Amino acid sequence: MSARTVVVGGGLAGLLAARRHLAAGEQVTLLEAAPVLGGAIARTEVAGVEISSGAEAYSTGAGAVDALVASLGLSAQVVEPRAGLASRIVSEAGVHRAPAGSLLGIPARPLGREARTVLGLPGALRAAAEPLLPARLGHRPGASVEQVVSRRLGRRTARRLVAPVVGGVHSADPRTLEFATASPQLHAGLARHGSLVRAVRALRGGSSRTAGTRVHSLSPTMAALPEALEAELRDGGADLRTSAEVTGITDGTAGSAAVPECARWTVRTGVEELPADRLVLACAPDLAASLLAEADPELAAAIPEAPAATVRLVALVVDAPALDAFPVGTGALVAPGTAGIRAKGLTHASAKWAHVQQAAGAAHPEAAGPHVLRLSYGRPGEELPAREDIVAQALADASAILGTELTATDLLGSAVLDWDRAMRQARPGHRGALAALTALLEDRPALELRGSWRAGTGLDAIVRAENTLISPPTDASTEGRPA
Ligand SMILES: Cc1cc2nc3c(=O)[nH]c(=O)nc-3n(C[C@H](O)[C@H](O)[C@H](O)COP(=O)(O)OP(=O)(O)OC[C@H]3O[C@@H](n4cnc5c(N)ncnc54)[C@H](O)[C@@H]3O)c2cc1C
Repeated sequence: MSARTVVVGGGLAGLLAARRHLAAGEQVTLLEAAPVLGGAIARTEVAGVEISSGAEAYSTGAGAVDALVASLGLSAQVVEPRAGLASRIVSEAGVHRAPAGSLLGIPARPLGREARTVLGLPGALRAAAEPLLPARLGHRPGASVEQVVSRRLGRRTARRLVAPVVGGVHSADPRTLEFATASPQLHAGLARHGSLVRAVRALRGGSSRTAGTRVHSLSPTMAALPEALEAELRDGGADLRTSAEVTGITDGTAGSAAVPECARWTVRTGVEELPADRLVLACAPDLAASLLAEADPELAAAIPEAPAATVRLVALVVDAPALDAFPVGTGALVAPGTAGIRAKGLTHASAKWAHVQQAAGAAHPEAAGPHVLRLSYGRPGEELPAREDIVAQALADASAILGTELTATDLLGSAVLDWDRAMRQARPGHRGALAALTALLEDRPALELRGSWRAGTGLDAIVRAENTLISPPTDASTEGRPA
């Protein structure tokens, strides 16, 4: 009899693990609490326009997601951001182009015009001196992004360039996000090159492309990815169950009344018990720890805390011909503490993606200039705007960022979407804790813990972490690999 594998969680990590176990000839059952698969890759309709409601793009750096997408027959749906548009950084210095070729907000050329405009001359000179500093300054295990960056490049770079990226991309506070987890590449690059600026140059390879454009997406939405994985898994005979919340896992070696055959674990949902010879927990770390508390207390205790950061998204479809000029390019990230703006980021989706602009035009032929905007809220430690006020707040923030007044009369439709468990904050010490956890897992070959809290933020990190289990890692696949 082939092994019975139960996967808990049907986000990208769980779907990929299910695919791997199915390919190995196992009987795969995937249990997902939500009514649909995909987790933080999802879609919704706003004013007749289909949009990505969670992840909206993936990094193309290592080519891992492009390869996955091709293997699923989705290559014809791959789209690139509109060419020639730069993103913006909004800070106390104003709204400026994001420096091209930067990584985690760290500029490759601190004295270049774009970085100088955001940092001012004193801030740019301070950052430009970084390669002259001793290599070990700020480079200690467990240091936060804030500690490493402000020590090496100065407080202005930390506040105006790096904090917007950390808040917008990682939904984290630079003071509590571990540097080595935020960017394993830069952490390794600092050790190798003795300087963050030199590491950014080496890693970016002199690319002058602006931040946010080294990505691809799928048309009509990113949800095409989990949908294709779901179709392939179902065709292959996997048992995929939605609205199936796992409530407990017990050591099943003794069997039970409901599960008479001996299995390593018994997995319980509200309605049944399933035997599992192999178990993949591809859910949040706090849930994985509580599910394993009884069956494997030693491992459960070793799962690091990675608190959830709540992200509240507001999608706006507006009729605003002034936005036809794409005033902030593909969008903007906002530095914490920027007066008058509560959003941490804005994506001008109809500027960034031609297919979104076409969809908005097709849904609103009567409109003079239909546009789709996506604003995000929720910095750690800050109160979220209330749901009932947030559309008005989003219109005000979008007006300030885009330099165009948008009011309720311009609104064709809106949606408010909460993600309260999907983004995890890696606290200082996270990487060390993951290394200890990985060592414990080596003694438990039938148990896997997957997900972005282990692999790193983003779809690319999850796919690369999965690829290390399918084929041996290469030098290019270091970022995001489970420590
Ligand atoms: C708003 C937002 C925007 C993002 N934008 C981007 C982007 O543009 N590009 C990018 O690369 N990344 C982006 N990310 C990050 C990326 O989407 C995530 O890192 C990734 O999708 C996480 O996948 P995962 O499988 O680890 O977790 P999840 O997608 O969170 O999946 C975990 C699954 O487990 C399920 N689950 C939980 N409890 C149980 C239970 N008891 N029983 C059964 N199932 C359970 C959940 O319902 C969920 O479906 C974004 C994330 C968010 C929230």
